[in-house]
Amino acid sequence: MATALGLARQGIRSHVLEQAPQLREVGAGLQLGPNGLRALDHLGVLDHLFKTAVFPQHQVLLDVQTGKIIKVLDMGAKFSTRYGYPYILAHRHDLLDALAKACEDSGLVTVQTSKAVTHVIDRENSAEVQCADGSHYVCNALIAADGLRSVVRKEIFVDDPLRPTPYAAFRGTLPAAEIVPQTGKDDLLIWAGSDSHLVQYPLRGGELYNQVAVLRTDHGFDTEDDRQAASAELDTRFSTAHPSVRAGVRKINRGARWTLWDRDPIVVWTKHRIALLGDAAHPMLQFMAQGACQALEDAVCLSWRLGQTPDNIERAFTLYQNTRVLRATRVQLTTRFMDRLWHPSGTDSTLRDEFLSKLAPTDYELFDWLYGDKTFVEGTHVA
Ligand SMILES: Cc1cc2nc3c(=O)[nH]c(=O)nc-3n(C[C@H](O)[C@H](O)[C@H](O)COP(=O)(O)OP(=O)(O)OC[C@H]3O[C@@H](n4cnc5c(N)ncnc54)[C@H](O)[C@@H]3O)c2cc1C
Repeated sequence: MATALGLARQGIRSHVLEQAPQLREVGAGLQLGPNGLRALDHLGVLDHLFKTAVFPQHQVLLDVQTGKIIKVLDMGAKFSTRYGYPYILAHRHDLLDALAKACEDSGLVTVQTSKAVTHVIDRENSAEVQCADGSHYVCNALIAADGLRSVVRKEIFVDDPLRPTPYAAFRGTLPAAEIVPQTGKDDLLIWAGSDSHLVQYPLRGGELYNQVAVLRTDHGFDTEDDRQAASAELDTRFSTAHPSVRAGVRKINRGARWTLWDRDPIVVWTKHRIALLGDAAHPMLQFMAQGACQALEDAVCLSWRLGQTPDNIERAFTLYQNTRVLRATRVQLTTRFMDRLWHPSGTDSTLRDEFLSKLAPTDYELFDWLYGDKTFVEGTHVA
């Protein structure tokens, strides 16, 4: 929807095919860093999103067992001034609503749901898409934002395996009144442990509270027995944790569990009139809360490039790819490294704490490359 809106902002019409019966997001929160907000500002939806967003004042890293504060990052005025945008905590529904409403208002986006794309044909000067219900579409250009298990990536680009990680996540929201946050009520908390972590933050102006519990596991989640075992494992894993963590984990929704996957980076995302975008191009672990932010950067970059050369789609797609590949790959690979920051044990843990304790809450240099980047709208990585 962000890409469709970006195209509409350039005066380009698009048609969205969505496999789900409705446009819906999972009922959970999303952290959006200043780079994601820069993209959303280009799409013109910040005002809408700010109505319900929470603006955290601090990101606090705590020891999951003892509750000791390891590091505080100041996310207040100095942070927003440095990057030009704040860090926000948004409900996924609210982001989707903002994008869908703006798409509708543009009059340039049409959407069809219950349209699962099963097959794609590259016709060089056009692309053909076939759907599970037998319908097919021929288009001037095809942008595949079809996520981690992208059909288009597999059929047109590479049939590469998902890269397994030992981690799975449970997540969900609950009324904020049911949780007593360990530090300030608007803080973003990350409770880190050697084989698990818990992220907690408020949503919807403080009405709701979001929690994501991540743990190492080798259990499945397919049968009812698996689900009961996974739920018991979640409790066991956090059974010796700080009381605030135990209280939060007890209330996490057990109905769904997300196995964390990524794939190795690829450098070719476009072919003739077909382009990959978002998780379809660069799926990443969620340890830096950047997957959606990177997809938003892609959306703005691709539509900007198409707006620049509307008569040469292939050239616009190549410019988009060349602008984005290095940046998205850096985020994708750095995210893997973050495993060592969130889940160290023994000496690694001591070294991490010592390193982080030397940083002041307003030492932002480590984040400049991530939050300050403007290449997706200024395009300096172009070959
Ligand atoms: C636990 C967890 C927490 C996360 N937290 C954050 C965070 O805080 N901040 C952040 O920036 N990112 C976060 N992410 C990552 C983020 O959710 C993803 O990177 C982002 O959703 C990717 O967007 P996308 O549009 O590329 O793909 P998706 O969100 O997967 O959307 C793909 C869409 O395509 C549709 N589709 C798929 N296949 C087909 C088909 N064949 N035909 C038609 N339609 C199809 C799907 O139904 C879906 O609507 C998190 C991820 C997880 C798992």
